[in-house]
Amino acid sequence: MQDNLSLKSSLQYLKGVGPQKAAVLSKLDLFTIEDLFYFFPRRYEDRTAVVGVSKLEKGLPEEKICVRGRVESRGFIRRRGGPALFRVVLRDGGAALFGTWFNQAYLTKVFMPKMEVIFYGKPEPEGKNFRMMHPEYEVIAEEGQWERVHSGRIAPIYALTEDLGQKGVRQFLFRQLRDHARLFPEILPAAVRSRRGLSDRIFSFKNIHFPEGFAELRRAYRRLVFDEFLMIQLAIGLRRIRQRAASPGLSHTGGAEQVKDLIGSLPFELTAGQRSAIDDILKDMRSDRPMNRLVQGDVGSGKTAVAACALLATAANGFQGAIMAPTEVLAQQHFLGLASLLEPLGVRCGYLAQGMAPEERRATLEGLASGQVQVIIGTHALIQNEVRFSKLGLAVIDEQHKFGVVQRAALKEKGGAPHFLIMTATPIPRTLAMTLYGDMDISVMNELPKERKPVRTLWVGESRRSEIYAFLEKELSEGRQAYVLCPRVNESAAASPVSAKSVLAAHRELTRIFSHRKVGILHGKMRSAEKQAIMRDFKSGATELLVSTVVIEVGVDVPNANLMIIENAERFGLSQLHQLRGRVGRGSREATCVLFSEGDSEETSERLSAFEKTQSGFDIAETDLKLRGAGEIVGSRQHGLPELRIGDLSKDGEIMRMAREEAVAILEKDPKLCGSEHRALRAALEARFKIARGKPAVLA
Ligand code: ADP
Ligand code: MG
Repeated sequence: MQDNLSLKSSLQYLKGVGPQKAAVLSKLDLFTIEDLFYFFPRRYEDRTAVVGVSKLEKGLPEEKICVRGRVESRGFIRRRGGPALFRVVLRDGGAALFGTWFNQAYLTKVFMPKMEVIFYGKPEPEGKNFRMMHPEYEVIAEEGQWERVHSGRIAPIYALTEDLGQKGVRQFLFRQLRDHARLFPEILPAAVRSRRGLSDRIFSFKNIHFPEGFAELRRAYRRLVFDEFLMIQLAIGLRRIRQRAASPGLSHTGGAEQVKDLIGSLPFELTAGQRSAIDDILKDMRSDRPMNRLVQGDVGSGKTAVAACALLATAANGFQGAIMAPTEVLAQQHFLGLASLLEPLGVRCGYLAQGMAPEERRATLEGLASGQVQVIIGTHALIQNEVRFSKLGLAVIDEQHKFGVVQRAALKEKGGAPHFLIMTATPIPRTLAMTLYGDMDISVMNELPKERKPVRTLWVGESRRSEIYAFLEKELSEGRQAYVLCPRVNESAAASPVSAKSVLAAHRELTRIFSHRKVGILHGKMRSAEKQAIMRDFKSGATELLVSTVVIEVGVDVPNANLMIIENAERFGLSQLHQLRGRVGRGSREATCVLFSEGDSEETSERLSAFEKTQSGFDIAETDLKLRGAGEIVGSRQHGLPELRIGDLSKDGEIMRMAREEAVAILEKDPKLCGSEHRALRAALEARFKIARGKPAVLA
């Protein structure tokens, strides 16, 4: 055992690691002992069953197995024409097992007659005997001294690059764990460990690599995932504490009357969910701490009205409000909708997006800087440098999952310490919400306006196209409108055999078939003014059928549109399909969503039939999380999800809940983590965030 080593010691200083081996390990991002121990197996092989060679005579197993015997002879067999074969004969009384390799001269030095050896592989008959091609092998040096590293155990399999073999890495890790696992300090207070029944840390590192059994492996996994999630929850908790301690917010004491007037002027009664979200928000804004709230409400639950109340409240208190939407189409819609609600109450609204006429843009920017424009509605254009506010009181992000963390923060940073509201229609599974938005307060609106009916959803193949078109014609003739959604703008240039339907091709086809109808087309490559005109015509009903790409995916609200037809539905993820389906069923009539797809793969069938049966966005998000993983759901690359080394957000929700509870309890007692029982925890936290982000931990 080497002394004066720590977890941070470079692998180069370990016995048996020269510069060459260190260089190879560095390709796997393994530099220190700690890195090495955190290099968790990708999977395991159950190699626990070991039988003697003669046992094979009773019948061959279906799977790979460990076979034990004594080396009777070994050597090269030359075959005419073929390469030299190295063959080891194992026997333990009855039939023999031949282990065979191509061209591995060094094996003459490994196998000596009389040696006890274990082969791991799939045995096959060879005459009266058996053979294994290229078995993994392990030599049993002396009875009793056998270190079961590769065989007779649950063996770890690592994700390796080409120049490294499983066996070498496994052997290396085995030695290092045996000699240095003691370097891991316990980081959890004893009370937490015993309350949660968590196993010891050293035990866990040893067993995650070399499990003594499956039960031990599960315990090790649970402990290590807990540690990982606890770090995340502590970091979130500390961030929250820091935010609360930061500059005092802009207490909005007035505005209640105006908000009441606005609610009274709406053409509908608010749902209970909307009312309580609005209450939460107004309460937050009255406080002298900046609001930091997420409103989560399924597609069509009426988040815009909630945002309108918040924006009005800030204006009524003499501040400015900003709402940022991910697409021009949506920003434009919000502008029209919000202006028609707020301007009658005396609030000046403005609009900002790319591609505006220069003088219009200049006027808006001036209005913002002077404070004349009280509520600004826009796209990413709002976070450009030139945009200056006179006094920003509230920043709202709509469809926040379409923005990266940095963009979201950038809007807030346009002011001093404005209130901050983010809204999402993508229901976030609890585990994810705890990870991504653990530092926010959350209002959930889990009901749709009363008169809404579920959207009838049909997944059909090409054979039913004419039937669907007949239905489309019927809907249009009754005065309703419809969308046809295509995954692409252009025909693909590459000659792909399974090219998806393009919006241009679909538009051509549909204008021909529905020549007596007004068919419009919309896609992201059009100019802003054009897009605006198209949406205006669709909203007013002048266009009856809109052929579009996913530019209408989020937010678009045309209640008279009652039919959504999605081409190549297999191209879309579940959450995206849910958003698209959410464009219809916004009025009181039953709406229909038709998915065209041949559903050629099993994965597609599973996804589309799950979608047909499910209306709840929440259930869809849970399914999506399982099918596609967390990164895909939250959408943007800069989604702010921490890189996980072991835990899995789609499976380990229970552990996340536990970790969150403990993190909250720990920080309540010791908000700076400076108590002696938390010293190790704090050090681990600092180390973790240095490792993960390459920059020093931000601690309170
Ligand atoms: P989302 O939550 O998806 O953003 P919207 O704010 O776009 O939903 O609202 C969807 C539709 O429902 C809009 O046409 C809106 O006017 C309408 N709406 C909102 N709240 C209610 C309500 N309480 N009752 C009836 N209709 C409502
Ligand atoms: Mg919306």
